[in-house]
Amino acid sequence: MAARTNELTALRNRFTEVRARIDDCAATCHRAPDEITLIAVTKTHPVETLRTAISIGTRDLGENRVQEAEPKIIELGRDAANWHLIGHLQANKARRAVKLFDLIHSVDSVELAQRLDRLCMEEDRAQLPILIQVDLAGEETKTGARESELDELAQAISASRHLQLRGLMTLPPFFTDAELVRPYFKRLRELRDVLQDQGLFGVARGELSMGMTHDFEIAIEEGATMLRIGTALFGEREAQT
Ligand SMILES: *Cc1c(COP(=O)(O)O)cnc(C)c1O
Repeated sequence: MAARTNELTALRNRFTEVRARIDDCAATCHRAPDEITLIAVTKTHPVETLRTAISIGTRDLGENRVQEAEPKIIELGRDAANWHLIGHLQANKARRAVKLFDLIHSVDSVELAQRLDRLCMEEDRAQLPILIQVDLAGEETKTGARESELDELAQAISASRHLQLRGLMTLPPFFTDAELVRPYFKRLRELRDVLQDQGLFGVARGELSMGMTHDFEIAIEEGATMLRIGTALFGEREAQT
C-alpha cells in the first residue's frame, strides 16, 4: 500500500514537473501551452505503470512496438487513452495497428500507406489518423521517408480513402549536445509548412511530433505540437530485447 502510494506520488510529481517545463518554455516562445500534447512513452514499462499514469490524468500514451502494446491496450481498454504508435510499423503488424491505435506516427512508404488504407476497409475503420515519419539525416539504418519521397507519399495518403494525414514526425540522430538537433526540428517545420500551404492537412494545422526527454524544449521552440517523452516521466528504461 505504502509502496503504491509512493509510486503514485513520484509519478505525479514527475508529470507536474515536465508539464511545468513545457508550459514555461511555451510561454517564453509565445506559444499556447494547450497546443502542445504530452505523449507519455511507456515502452518497456509494465501495464501497472500505464494504469497509474492514466489514473493521474494522462490521456496520451505512446508505445513503439505493436506486439508489446497489444496486451497492454487490451488489458486497459481501447478507450482508456489515446494510443500512439511511435515506432516503426512492419507490414505484418499493420492489421493489428489499425485495430489498436488512435494515431500512427511512423508511416514512411506508399506501400505501407496503401496497406493501411486497405486494412481500414477490411476492419471497418472509417478514418485512421497518421503522421509521416521523415528521416532527415538520411541514415541507412533508420526508418522514415526521405525528404525526396515526401511529396509522393503525402499525395498518396491524401488520395486514400481512410487515412487522414495529420502531420509529420521525426526521430533525429542522438547528440550529446541537444542544440545540434535544432536544424532537424527546423527542417521538419519547414516541410510541414509546405504541405500545409498545399492544403494537405485540410483546414487544420499540421502536427509536428518531435522532441524527447533530452531535447523537448528545443523542439517546442521550433514548433513541436506533440512531444514523445519517456525517461523524464518514468525513469531510465531497461534495454529493449
Ligand atoms: C523511446 C522513444 C521516445 C522517448 O524517449 P525518451 O528519451 O525516453 O523520452 C520517443 N520517441 C520514440 C520514437 C521512442 O522510441
